[in-house]
Amino acid sequence: MTIPRAEHSVSRAQISENALRVLHRLRDAGYAALLVGGCVRDLMLGREPKDFDVVTDARPEEIRKLFHNARIIGRRFRLVHVRFGREIIEVATFRAAAHDVAGDVPATDPETGEPIEEEETESVGAEVPPADQNIFGTQEEDALRRDFTVNALYYNIRDFGVIDYVGGVQDLRAGLLRVIGDPETRFREDPVRMLRAVRFAAKLGFNLAPGTEEPIRELAPLLLDVPPARMFEEVLKLFHGGAALKTYELLRHYGLFEYLFPQTEEALTHEDGGFPITLVPRALENTDARVNADRPVTPAFLFAALLWEPMRLRLPHYHLQGKTAHDAQNFAADDVIREQLTRVSIPRRFSVPMREIWFMQDRLTRRNGRQASQMIEHPRFRAAYDFLLLRAESGEATHELADWWTRFQAVSADERRGMIAALGPGEGGGAERPGGGKRRRRRRRRKSGQHVPAGQG
Ligand code: ATP
Ligand code: MG
Repeated sequence: MTIPRAEHSVSRAQISENALRVLHRLRDAGYAALLVGGCVRDLMLGREPKDFDVVTDARPEEIRKLFHNARIIGRRFRLVHVRFGREIIEVATFRAAAHDVAGDVPATDPETGEPIEEEETESVGAEVPPADQNIFGTQEEDALRRDFTVNALYYNIRDFGVIDYVGGVQDLRAGLLRVIGDPETRFREDPVRMLRAVRFAAKLGFNLAPGTEEPIRELAPLLLDVPPARMFEEVLKLFHGGAALKTYELLRHYGLFEYLFPQTEEALTHEDGGFPITLVPRALENTDARVNADRPVTPAFLFAALLWEPMRLRLPHYHLQGKTAHDAQNFAADDVIREQLTRVSIPRRFSVPMREIWFMQDRLTRRNGRQASQMIEHPRFRAAYDFLLLRAESGEATHELADWWTRFQAVSADERRGMIAALGPGEGGGAERPGGGKRRRRRRRRKSGQHVPAGQG
């Protein structure tokens, strides 16, 4: 079914110029040229697309020949990246369902985030398919192998119509995420689709169609089969997409969260002094605020928040063995990270600063002499301070300590000296251990009003 130009709201003015360039060049060379996926969905909803994906009947080599700034990438299947400065337009050839349908995201290097080029892929994994496993198909087959009906709409540059093979337009109007085909089969094919369902539902404010929703709880354990590196990429999309809190609630609702962060799920069942642990939802709320204000976020802060409680719960084990506070933290962090890596990989460039954020929590309680002045020079100070604010908001650290650091940053060098002098001799050595020690719980969160938390960068 085609919805003609006059009956839908997608206009060329909302499409990136570079995407239009690609579409026009393909069309002028006689190939099919359409936008597909998230960008059409978002345009139909009046939202600004994150990126523009193009599909065509041209083969990767043919596509590459049309653009000087193009390269073929991909591991499970090959597609072409056409680069215009910082914007990359992804151009894929129509393809039918293959046995290995693990998503449209080309393999990326977990350290750099860069897509892995075709030639480099041989060494990457065991299941590298040869190029002939690239199964091309018709446009309709291409629609049917996609995940949700609202993700399978095409915008045709030839007549500006929107093509819908699967009832996506109707679902879009009804605000429904519906798996194309049999949900259980499609989730078994690629369990990450369960995470995608939740992510889109949270982001778009949609509901899952009843049939789509029904098998998720039972199939959730299939996430254990997904490689941790792919899970890492999905986790970032889940929690850095601007709807992290809602996503988190839905992940827990559908029993998916425990397969991503089992230790966190476990920690959430422990109440702290009779109060539920609120640090994770608060951190996610902060992250959403930052993302929606176009401020930077880092996975280091996200993982620090998600794994903080499990790390704290590990500490007494090492304290009982007589380890120093410092060593106990190190061992606890090692344990928690090692365990987490079996589910979701965390590249070292994020796990290292994550540990720093944790370790600095203890150091933030030691403010005497030159310690405080040295602290604020630390490259991770801002993130650690934001983390402290979060802990104070959750009733785990004191507001006095958080407020002290807020003020310390704001005042002159003279006043700083005064603040340190006013601490008195008792404030020297880690009065407030992140492992427990002196802890405060407040029934009602004090409105502290001053903070703009989570300087995650
Ligand atoms: P976003 O706004 O997050 O980019 P998106 O829908 O564009 O959303 P992508 O991950 O960029 O999501 O994927 C592009 C398209 O590829 C999807 O709209 C969908 O049609 C298809 N797709 C992606 N992943 C899968 C998958 N795991 N199974 C089936 N189809 C998929
Ligand atoms: Mg996309």
